[in-house]
Amino acid sequence: MAVRHVHVQKPEARSQKPEAQKVPSPTRRPIVTSRRLVRALPAAVAATLALAGGQAVAAPAAGPQAEHAAARVVTYDASGAAEFKDAVSKGVAVWNESVTNVQLKPATSGQRANVRIVADDGWPRAAVDGLGSGTVYFGRQAVDQGYNTVRISSHELGHILGLPDKKPGPCSSLMSGSTAGTSCANPNPDASEKAEVEDNFGGAAVTSGTARTTVYAD
Ligand SMILES: [Zn+2]
Repeated sequence: MAVRHVHVQKPEARSQKPEAQKVPSPTRRPIVTSRRLVRALPAAVAATLALAGGQAVAAPAAGPQAEHAAARVVTYDASGAAEFKDAVSKGVAVWNESVTNVQLKPATSGQRANVRIVADDGWPRAAVDGLGSGTVYFGRQAVDQGYNTVRISSHELGHILGLPDKKPGPCSSLMSGSTAGTSCANPNPDASEKAEVEDNFGGAAVTSGTARTTVYAD
C-alpha cells in the first residue's frame, strides 16, 4: 500500500520541483514521509504546500543558504553610502512597510551584510548576485540630474529583492525607474511589485550568493 501511495504522489512531487529543488534533500525527506503516512491524497496537496511554505522558517540550518531561508532577513551595510545614508534608510523603510515575507535590517558590527550600498559618481545601479544579495551603487549622476534620492534607493533595493526594471513605465511603478522622469518622487512599489517580492521570498527556496551576477544599470 505504501508503494502505491508513492506512485500516486509522484507527479505532485515533480510539479513542485522548480520551487523545491534547491532545498537540500535531507530537509525534504521528512515532509514526504509524514505526508505519505498521515494525509489522505487530496489533503496531501494542500498540506504539502503549507508545509513547503513553513519549511523555510522551520528547516534546521544546513549551510549558508538554509540559514538565509530560515531568517528571511536581508542585512545591509550602508557605511559606504556617504551623503545618501538617510535616503537608504527611507528606502529600507518603504520596503519594510510594503512587504512581510522579507525585511531589510542593518548588519550588526562584525556581521557580513547581504547587501552593500555605496555612493559613487556613476549612474545608480544594482549588481545582484542572488535573491537578497548584492551591491547597490548610489550613483550621483542621476541625483545631480534631479532624480529623487528615496525613489532611487527603493528602486535599487527592489532589484536586490528580485525585481527587474519595468521600463518605460509610469511614476506609480517603482521599477519604471528613470523613465518616470525627474519629477517623479514616488518611492513606493505598486501592488504587483509588492506581490512579486512577496512571491520571491514566500517560497521554500530562498537562496543567496549564487555565482551569477546580474547588473541593473538604472
Ligand atoms: Zn533599475
